[in-house]
Amino acid sequence: MADPTQHPDQPGGSVLSDRDANIISADETGEAIDRIAEHMAAIIDLLHLDRCDPNLRETPRRIAKMYLEMFHGLVEGAEPNITTFPNEENYSSMVMERDIPFYSMCAHHFVPFYGHAHIAYIPRRRIVGLSKLPRILEFYAKRPQLQERLTEQVANYLQNKLHPLGVMVVIQARHLCVEMRGVKKHGALTVTSAIRGCFAETKVREEFLGFLAKGKDW
Ligand SMILES: [Zn+2]
Repeated sequence: MADPTQHPDQPGGSVLSDRDANIISADETGEAIDRIAEHMAAIIDLLHLDRCDPNLRETPRRIAKMYLEMFHGLVEGAEPNITTFPNEENYSSMVMERDIPFYSMCAHHFVPFYGHAHIAYIPRRRIVGLSKLPRILEFYAKRPQLQERLTEQVANYLQNKLHPLGVMVVIQARHLCVEMRGVKKHGALTVTSAIRGCFAETKVREEFLGFLAKGKDW
């Protein structure tokens, strides 16, 4: 494996490596909406519902458009343009953005899961604008997802884009597939974490967790 310290300082292009990036080309979206609407209409028919009911008449198309919106991360060109900057101050402590809200859809049930992400990294030679961290999260959230995979993808993106000393991502989420069906555990919180580089060290991880433990009003 290449030594990350040898990585050139250029802001690099796409660092996508996951299999479901860019799988719907931008000029396919119109056709995708038409086809999804046809299938939604078939589902409504199979449920013996009356598609002439004014509340259902536009539902197939409404759902199709909503899917394209909620799954926008699958559409070609959806990757945010993440500019990185040289770390001119040689900042070498933790940068953390916490309590970033997100909404995603469970790949197993196609119902929402939602919550907050806490994202931290310790820079090496490049830093990223703070407004970009929520955009990276949103890009990966907007597709059928697993919370575990979402957590890993955000960590991998930052690792590959910045080659920092370390990255840590913690996501806390509620899953409607757990709360509305099956075991029906209202309010259950699922927590996942991904750790890269120096966050494997206890003292670094403890600093991250210390920031999180402070509550929102400090
Ligand atoms: Zn689920």
